[in-house]
Amino acid sequence: MAKLTAESRVYVRSVSYAYEELKQVMFGLLSLLDQGRIQQQSRVLIKPNFLAPARPERAMITHPLVIRAAVEYVHEKGALPQVSDSPAMGTFERVMREGGIDRALRDIPVDCRPFQDSHMVDIGPPFNRIEIAADAMDADVIINLPKLKTHTQMLLTLGVKNMFGCIVGLRKPEWHLRTGIDRERFAELLVRICAVMRPAITVLDGVLAMEGQGPGKGGVPRELGVVMAAKDAFAVDAAVCRMLSIKEDELLTNRLAAKMGLMPGNIAIDGELPAVRDMHFPAMAPLVFGPKGLQGFMRRHLVQRPVCRTSLCRHCGECWRYCPATAIEPEMQGLRFDYDKCIRCYCCIEVCPYGALSSRETVAGKVVRRALKR
Ligand code: SF4
Ligand code: SF4
Repeated sequence: MAKLTAESRVYVRSVSYAYEELKQVMFGLLSLLDQGRIQQQSRVLIKPNFLAPARPERAMITHPLVIRAAVEYVHEKGALPQVSDSPAMGTFERVMREGGIDRALRDIPVDCRPFQDSHMVDIGPPFNRIEIAADAMDADVIINLPKLKTHTQMLLTLGVKNMFGCIVGLRKPEWHLRTGIDRERFAELLVRICAVMRPAITVLDGVLAMEGQGPGKGGVPRELGVVMAAKDAFAVDAAVCRMLSIKEDELLTNRLAAKMGLMPGNIAIDGELPAVRDMHFPAMAPLVFGPKGLQGFMRRHLVQRPVCRTSLCRHCGECWRYCPATAIEPEMQGLRFDYDKCIRCYCCIEVCPYGALSSRETVAGKVVRRALKR
């Protein structure tokens, strides 16, 4: 039997957000995984999921008390914690305020700031040199604190995808545009970024997770009551798939990581992995299908499109400002989508603060896809 490495062990703990209990669990996990890496004066970057300003009970961002426990642990080690991210929507300061992180950290000295400057980093072909947050590249240790959420484009957002937040600001939609409708290409980008960043510890917040049309306001909070931790973000993601009763390679980043030799061969679970058999995943239609020569036409006319529920839209402008293809324009009532330009990245759904956007497959799309399957 192959020897289990420490990297392939995933620690699963049942816990709530009651702080004393959570802190004990987080300290236990961090001291198991730290193994002397966090030393006096080490610069430790704590990277939560700060998708957008939202209260913790919406399950859109890493819970403030999970962040607090990590910050306290780093402090106790005499190291220098920094909490940073680059929200897809809204400002970092608003996420801190509305997400309750300001409040949770008010009595601990900690540097909290958005990623701003970048370094050019070679993540390998086909992407080669890309810009990654300098604060992340320069840190001695990265503690990755993802949230367990469903994701309309990638199925789930977990440990590996959380590192995409180290791409600063508007560079993120630019990468969506460059990888286009090719989910596999986008997954490869995520895997390569995570492999280069190599967070030393990943602790996934799955206490209050999200199901349905995540990862934004379209998703529904779902209590799972677990945190999962490992040295290796890929191992955490694989263990989450087991917990949610799906095959590991259904998550594209897992499949790509395995192909690239980055997935640990043996993943041992330490603790009780709950069996969740009724998680609601987002409806995901393929973005490319049909005969090659017709794929462009089919994507434009038959693949799920973003649509707006006018009654919920407040014309805040987040979606059209973020859209990497400039395919959205405001109208007197609601929005107008240019479906020829739209690359079906579904970023607009992700960033809408009012849950006004969703994806809908066209009737023709359903018919053609079923016919092609026969
Ligand atoms: S309209 Fe939405 S799905 Fe289409 S390209 Fe813009 S952000 Fe992506
Ligand atoms: S759809 Fe959502 S993000 Fe776009 S303008 Fe309306 S409320 Fe804002």
